[in-house]
Parts: sequence; structure tokens; C-alpha cells
Amino acid sequence: MALTSSSRQVVESSDKKLISKAAVLDGVEGKFNIVEFEVPEPKEGEFILRTEYAGVCGTDVHIYHGHLDTIEYPIVLGHEFCGIIEKLGSEKLYDSNGVAVKKGDRVVIVPGASCGECYYCQIAKTPTRCTNTKAYGFLPNKDPYLLSGGFSQYVHIKNKNTAFFKTDLDPEIAVLTEPLSICIHGFQRAGGVRFGSTVLVQGTGAIGLGAIAFAKRSGAAKVIAVGGPKRRLELAQKMGADIVIDIEEVRDPEERIKLVKAETKGGRGPDMVVECAGFPGALPEGLTYLSDSGEYVELGHFTDVGSVEMNPHWHILRKNANIRGVWGSDVEHMQMTLSILENMELPYEELISHKLPLNRIEDAIRSMSQKGYTLDGQEQVIKIAIDPWKDFE
Ligand SMILES: [Zn+2]
Ligand SMILES: [Zn+2]
Repeated sequence: MALTSSSRQVVESSDKKLISKAAVLDGVEGKFNIVEFEVPEPKEGEFILRTEYAGVCGTDVHIYHGHLDTIEYPIVLGHEFCGIIEKLGSEKLYDSNGVAVKKGDRVVIVPGASCGECYYCQIAKTPTRCTNTKAYGFLPNKDPYLLSGGFSQYVHIKNKNTAFFKTDLDPEIAVLTEPLSICIHGFQRAGGVRFGSTVLVQGTGAIGLGAIAFAKRSGAAKVIAVGGPKRRLELAQKMGADIVIDIEEVRDPEERIKLVKAETKGGRGPDMVVECAGFPGALPEGLTYLSDSGEYVELGHFTDVGSVEMNPHWHILRKNANIRGVWGSDVEHMQMTLSILENMELPYEELISHKLPLNRIEDAIRSMSQKGYTLDGQEQVIKIAIDPWKDFE
């Protein structure tokens, strides 16, 4: 329940009640209003998380523009988040690895909580397709929905079957667990990365950079990145890309296809192409790169941004293409991703290029919707993390 100014004073004078500022999006392309809420007391099995960071995702950008049909407004977004346990509702609580947690522990939350009872949960074993998913930060989640997303100082962790993991990682790396888990799910659906193969990644945002890092560490001999702008391509190289192709420099898709083919044995194209760009036009281009019997992994279109013309003969049948789609990621993918991040083999923290306060979410979204991914007209954004405790700018 939102507090009125008079009731807020009463609450602030009591030292037991916590107050949380949250950024409430009021509608499609609306305003993120900063609202203060009273934080409820957690019940048995629940806890209150003090948010440290919540990543701004391409999906948030699309939700802002109304591209995801399941969203109901007003809503507090922010499905990629980590923080510190502030209050526990039970004396004993264990994370999804079976590790006991206490007040003060850092945890990463799996944003989707599947029901465990529907066809997808019990028979198909694809819980990300659960028909009764409760979620933090992106699905209608009333009762009360308002402290259920990471763009808030506190989050009420209360959905049945919520999975979470304790970690000692720095929060700027822990916050990447959810977006990077998408890559792990994608590789899993494609049967893994073959040792010695060539993998091409389309798009060099956070998911693309994760796909590059994980493909290389899974045994790919050569990783090619097609993306931009410059700052992202430099990081792509640090993450393991052997070849980078800047779409700003090579604007013609036909030219890019030639360059890609020339980088593969016999000009046959990469064994796997991972689409992380989120532009419909990336699909026919990426399927044209792909080798015969190759794997095409689609990770870029978590919202409906339109259709694209394809040629089933040339793009799919003529080359025995295997096309894999993934819908989000599940607890196991989050667990695997966190284990990889905890090894700290790469400078994953560099993926977070900016940390902004709650009142700048709209700027963050704008920076990701415009050409060149610039913030304040200058700096190139890789991934923005919202720090809900940072002073307003
Ligand atoms: Zn996301
Ligand atoms: Zn279910």
C-alpha cells in the first residue's frame, strides 16, 4: 500500500518498520514515479531483500514500449537483481543449493517462480513455460505487486517456489547471473558447444558478451562477434572473441556474410550462430552465415518486435539447419551461471558500464533504445545497473 505523507511520518517514527523507495512504471511509455512503500513483515519462508543492484535489460526496454503482452501496469520492473537479506520470516531458511542463509547474506534471486504443478512443470519439465509463473519484476504480480521488482530499495521475496542462491561474489558481478544464464540455457538446448568448432555471436550486449565468454570456455576454437559499437567490441575481445566485425563499419549484410564465410574452414560458415541482437533482420542474416547442419540459437527476441521475411528453402531446409529457441532460464541455468561467474576467470564486472539511481531508469532505457547506445549523449553503455540507494542525480 502506498503511504500518504501523513502515515509515512507515523511509520518513520517507529524503528521497526522499513520504508522502501520504488520506481513505479505507470503505463506503456509512461513515467517511472518514485513512490515510498511500507515494507511488510516477512512471513514463514519469506524474506525481505535489501536490493544492491538491479540490471536494466533489453526486455525492460521493450516492456517500456509495450512489447510484452503479459505485463500489467503499474509495475515495478527489475528482474535481474541481487542484494542482502534484511529480514527473515523463518528462523531457518536454505537457498536452492541447500545452504543455510542468515540476515546479512548476499543472495541472487531467480526471478521466475514456477508453480511445480502444471503440465510444463510436471510433465514437459520446462518450468520456464509454466502457466502459473509468479515473477519478480516482469509479470503481473499483485498482492502486493509493488515490492516485487528490483527497481526498489527492498523486495519482498514471497512467491512460492522462489529459488535463490547465496554468493560471496561482488554485487556488480552477481547481478549478471540472470542475463548470462540465458546463454547457458541456449547452449544446453543446442546440445552444447562442440570442441574445436566455430561459434558466431550476433549482438554484443550483455547476453552476446556472455555467449562469447561461455562459447570460448566451452571449447570453441574460434569465436566471431558481429556487433558494435567500439566499446562493446573491445570487451568482446576480452571475453574471448577472436574476430570482431563492427556493423557500423561493415553496413552491408552481404559484405558481412562474405567476411564471416572467409573466417571459416572451406568458407562453409560457423557451426553455431547465437542470435543476441534482438533485431528481426538478424535471423535471415545469421541463418545465411550458418554451416550445413549447424545450430542456430535464438536468444534475442524475448519480446515481440516484429516479423521478418525468411526463405524456408535457403535458410532452413537446404542447409539442414537446427533452430533452437529458449524461453528465459530456469533455476539450474542460474546455478550453473553463478558457478562460472564465481570462478572469476574473466573481467565480468566490466559488463556493468554504469550504475544509476532510481530516478534515472528512463534515461537508462532511452540509452538502450537509441543508436550507438549512448548515455547523456556521450558514453557508450554496455549494461546499466540501478543502485536504488544511490543519491538521485
Ligand atoms: Zn533480462
Ligand atoms: Zn507450473
